Amino acid sequence: MISTKNPITKTKITVAHGDGIGPEIMDATLRILDAAGALIEPEVIEIGEKVYRSGSKAGIQPSDWESLRRNKVFLKAPITTPQGGGFKSLNVTARTTLGLFANVRPCMAYSPYVDTKHPLLDLVIIRENEEDLYTGIEHRQTNQVRQCLKLISRPGCEKIIRYAFEYARAYNRRKVTCLSKDNIMKMTDGLFHSVFDEIAAEYPDIEKEHWIIDIGSALLADEPERFGIIVTLNLYGDIISDIAAQIAGSVGMGGSANVGEQCAMFEAIHGSAPDIAGRGIANPSGLLNGAIMMLVHIGQGEVAAKVHNAWLKTIEDGIHTGDVYQEGVSKERVGTKAFADAVIERLGQTPQHFKIISYAAAPKPIHITSGHEVQQEKELVGVDIFLDWTGGTAQQLGDAIAALPDSPLHLKMMTNRGVKVYPDGVPETFCTDHWRCRFVSKIDSDKVINKKTIWQQLALLNENGYDTIKTENLYTFDGQPGYSQMQGE
Ligand code: NAD
Repeated sequence: MISTKNPITKTKITVAHGDGIGPEIMDATLRILDAAGALIEPEVIEIGEKVYRSGSKAGIQPSDWESLRRNKVFLKAPITTPQGGGFKSLNVTARTTLGLFANVRPCMAYSPYVDTKHPLLDLVIIRENEEDLYTGIEHRQTNQVRQCLKLISRPGCEKIIRYAFEYARAYNRRKVTCLSKDNIMKMTDGLFHSVFDEIAAEYPDIEKEHWIIDIGSALLADEPERFGIIVTLNLYGDIISDIAAQIAGSVGMGGSANVGEQCAMFEAIHGSAPDIAGRGIANPSGLLNGAIMMLVHIGQGEVAAKVHNAWLKTIEDGIHTGDVYQEGVSKERVGTKAFADAVIERLGQTPQHFKIISYAAAPKPIHITSGHEVQQEKELVGVDIFLDWTGGTAQQLGDAIAALPDSPLHLKMMTNRGVKVYPDGVPETFCTDHWRCRFVSKIDSDKVINKKTIWQQLALLNENGYDTIKTENLYTFDGQPGYSQMQGE
């Protein structure tokens, strides 16, 4: 238990002990924080497997959301998400519901005490947490084809990228690297990259660079020491954070923060490790590192530094849990409780091999509001109508649609899975049952159309037996196309 000394200045935090090894590592972590003099007052809630099994699809009771919203700081042990049955990931729900837009994951090598091929690795991955392919908007509209919607917003990009630069300044990091795939996804990843360039210009003291995600990931795996802060989109960030933690040799030691404008959640990067639960052998370092980030976040940087330095000294002294124990390097193999005791014994000491950590000038929690949108003139210039059709070749479909009498719009071209197949397709292109038909004004393909003509076009197609499965309107913004061009457009 955290002591009740000096209750006036204590920060209330919501704490969940989670599943599997969660309760063991949370007890160890809270004991260390208490011994270090952290001024926190935990309010315990129950989340995870038991709550899921009691019928809550989200793994948390509605009343416990109130605790999170009231305290705004959440220290969370890992939980077990039951497979199937429509259970939702509590992490994803917490991130989106509480607006935790930034996932911050520091990765560091603790060589030679923890085995790694990259002893100089010391980087922070800042991953966008609310958008991208993780919005869960998926559809199946034909027998053959399914889709997942990738949503990227300008405010979303601004928030995460500005956060990365503010974080760099607060933690004295000299370089921010952006990773995206804007050579292929020009509209979505292109926005992320261009917002990165805009915001980077406001931080001339910080070096900036951009890599395409594929070569960027290869460089990360091969020469991680070249990176300081990496800022990237949700999916890429998810993947590269695990790569970075793995090559650092410390998946069991990494902590992470999910930070929003109002709330923040801190945790270990690993899961509930049911295979070792209840045996008292789990490494509490991941959750402890999450808790250190929490202390910095709530302005208790001195306590955070005290805990961090004592923890580094424990690692240096070779007192290791089984997951990182190395014959010839480690001095003592300990369980969860003894490891926590060793950290507590070293509170007030500093490491000799590792750099001494200082959070004396604790950065204030970074609050970022989204930018001011410049309203551009939006004009409707066409529509992509998608069909479920298996009646023949692309040429036959295109010719049949183009020949429909009294068509209000002009069929400009068709694609199948993004490949142009009409007009001038080639027979070698493999076609599925999912067709995109691009319709524009009959007078001039750049001319503004109105929604009524789109409904008329849809009605005409349906009356003639075509299964229209969805539409995407084509807009220009200040005359610039707000849609990807097809080949030959
Ligand atoms: P895991 O991270 O729980 O375990 C992977 C391996 O690492 C296991 O062998 C485990 O024993 C070991 N390990 C993990 N943490 C350790 C620690 N602190 N000390 C020593 N060894 C440790 O991953 P998993 O097995 O894929 O997932 C188990 C459960 O955790 C699943 O139900 C999954 O959904 C859940 N999970 C939860 C979170 C979270 O709550 N944030 C994150 C990931 C996975």
